[in-house]
Amino acid sequence: MAAPSLGPQLKAGPRRILHVDVDAMFVQCAVLADPERLGGVDLILVGGSPSGRGVVTSASYGCRAYGVRSAMPTATALRLCPDATVVKVPGEMVRTKSRALASSIADWSPVAAMASVDEAYIDLTGTEGLHRNEPLVETARRIQRDLKERTGLDVSIGGAANRLVAKMATSFAKPAGVYVVAPGEEEAFVASLQPEDLIGVGPALLASLRRRGIVDMTSLRALDVETMAAWWGPDRARWLWRRCRGIDEGPIRGREGAKSISSETTFPRDVSDLGELERLLLGRVVSVAGSLRRQGYYARTITVKLRYADFRDRSRSRTLVDSVQSDRVIFSVARELLGDLRRHNERPVRLIGVSLTGLSDSPEPEQQSLIALVPPRENARDRALSAAVDRIRDKHGRVIAPGSVLADQRRSREGDG
Ligand SMILES: [Mg+2]
Repeated sequence: MAAPSLGPQLKAGPRRILHVDVDAMFVQCAVLADPERLGGVDLILVGGSPSGRGVVTSASYGCRAYGVRSAMPTATALRLCPDATVVKVPGEMVRTKSRALASSIADWSPVAAMASVDEAYIDLTGTEGLHRNEPLVETARRIQRDLKERTGLDVSIGGAANRLVAKMATSFAKPAGVYVVAPGEEEAFVASLQPEDLIGVGPALLASLRRRGIVDMTSLRALDVETMAAWWGPDRARWLWRRCRGIDEGPIRGREGAKSISSETTFPRDVSDLGELERLLLGRVVSVAGSLRRQGYYARTITVKLRYADFRDRSRSRTLVDSVQSDRVIFSVARELLGDLRRHNERPVRLIGVSLTGLSDSPEPEQQSLIALVPPRENARDRALSAAVDRIRDKHGRVIAPGSVLADQRRSREGDG
């Protein structure tokens, strides 16, 4: 049988990808937020109330031994594990530690990116010399110790020649371990799993597989891509065919050479007033976010650049936990960045620019259940509003009055708290 095209062939040796996942992130953050009360406590349930209302966001490994799982009603969890201490979701600590993790991984490779609040990928390809050609598992252990020292968090690390297999390897590393799949062993590793272990195979697809008598990896891998296409359509078929063979050539987001979208403008005369700069910034945001949406992308990193009258450039960036594409959210971040830049330097400005990087074609982080607990910056309404603006702009060739976006942004900020 002819294999489907596997995408770009690799030219060099195997890639060296690590997937870093914080062990029970919310439990660890709850302890870090209240060490006096929770330090040394083994049975912790995050989410819900001590009276048993709500659901479990995250359970300590001690509680998991009693059969407690996340998303379980807290009342059920307390019946299984009556001695557990129930604590609130430590939202602020989760955000703080997620940012600390992002800046720590960035020191290990220029090709590193957060995939959700508690997960990251690091591409160490080409850094072998820096690490004295030590085995990937040794570098992973050093990174694990470094992250513990710098963030206080225990992490598990999976390693492989691609992102998909590295992530699946992480579940064999938990908790606080390292598990590396050797180059060339990807397919054998995946073949040893169950269909439900494949990332992205959810309950609906599993049920569809079972209905067709596909109950294990052997029967799944025996299917040809044409049969799969007849059942689920060509895109999903190709995706699953590759997935159950551990094939994935996707780059780490934020990889060097990744696309960026930017827009800048030079003013007819230099501008010093912050209000006027914000208005000009909004124009750039509307332009750049519009082209982002036209190309079907979402962005995670927003950068604002100023060129001063003396032709010196200064810029500020922020990488968000979730990918965004709406005018409102991009402007709210860009405006804070502009405020930072102006606090340090109030000299006249001759040019302002905004660029968006860390582009992906999906707004969804890989681990939706966790990210859902950290309030997203951008909601469905923001995206709908931006899409409506795009339609009007396409029709009339003009931009909505800036005031409407500004007013919307203020209202929404008040709601965020
Ligand atoms: Mg985790």
